[in-house]
Amino acid sequence: MAKQYLLTPGPTPVPEIIQKKMAKPIIHHRTTQYTEIFAAANQVLKKVFKTNSDVVTFTSSGTGAMEAGIVNTLSKGDTVIVVRGGKFGERFANICNAYGVKVVALDIPWGTAPDPALIQKTLAQNKAAKAVFISLCETSTATVYDVQKIGAVVGATDAILVVDTISGLLADEFKMDEWKVDVAVGGSQKGLMIPPGLAFIAFSPKAEALMAKSDLPKFYFDFKRYKKSLAASDVPFTPAITLEIGLKQALAMIEAEGVDTFIKRHRQDAEYVRARTKAMGLSMYSKAPSYAVTAVNVPEGKDGSALVKACKAKGVTFAGGQDTLKGKIIRIAHMGGINRQDLEDALNVLEGCLKELK
Ligand SMILES: *Cc1c(COP(=O)(O)O)cnc(C)c1O
Repeated sequence: MAKQYLLTPGPTPVPEIIQKKMAKPIIHHRTTQYTEIFAAANQVLKKVFKTNSDVVTFTSSGTGAMEAGIVNTLSKGDTVIVVRGGKFGERFANICNAYGVKVVALDIPWGTAPDPALIQKTLAQNKAAKAVFISLCETSTATVYDVQKIGAVVGATDAILVVDTISGLLADEFKMDEWKVDVAVGGSQKGLMIPPGLAFIAFSPKAEALMAKSDLPKFYFDFKRYKKSLAASDVPFTPAITLEIGLKQALAMIEAEGVDTFIKRHRQDAEYVRARTKAMGLSMYSKAPSYAVTAVNVPEGKDGSALVKACKAKGVTFAGGQDTLKGKIIRIAHMGGINRQDLEDALNVLEGCLKELK
């Protein structure tokens, strides 16, 4: 079979060297062999999130860590501000609703980033708000949010800032501690180059203070359990051993390249995609484009879903638009294990399919 290209904003391709590590016989997790792997991965995770806080790993998709960010810090009846500029902002609001947390929704047009001044104003109007929820990259619209500026605004209040970095991490710049982020959430199947199944979370001291008062129900995602075992590089429940082995390998590769160099390379790849699609006559959908994924508008009168299908038939998987953007945009990911050669090949296919599109 000809090479298949997976250029979606999750999952992303897993480099062969990582695949091979994960193909080895399973080991037991209550062993020094496993503890060493886990400890090594945890140490690099802190460098990736740019934090001195512990980064805890759950066996779940990224949404599990989004939920953990809520149940570990909030209490029933609390009010929070959620920026809704796409599917993932909506998800934070939906999880809050499921737990009886009152949501003040800050709805912004899809494809735009929230104005930090608007967040400041909303906080001033909702002094009881315990938290502000945003994404680093809102994947559904391929838009990057200015976490640094929003962190400065929220950091000056008693509210905590919760950031979903699931798709942006390792492509869009992110500095948890320096930017005053209180809860950072990540996932395995995007910038980290491993398959789906791991989720990550880190809490600032400010968030941990709120945790002490939190009364929302929690068991599997109770951070305190994980933190207690983490001191001994242990875990409360059976970990996804295979994925953790893959994670350790991926993080070793990222550390060898340098976290910042890795990010810079992905930024250059994003710029390459922007230049190539522009040359094809495709305009950018987002007003604040992310370096993790690029969304381009499908030309007027053409069917974006048919375009995605035509590329798929030639071995290249792109993502279309969700909800109201269905058929209107194409999303091209350039994060994690997606490299320049993959992008060149895939964009050649896109160019051909675009010409043939009726
Ligand atoms: C992919 C993604 C998620 C969800 O992750 P799952 O692993 O599907 O639970 C959440 N937020 C953002 C911004 C994402 O890109």
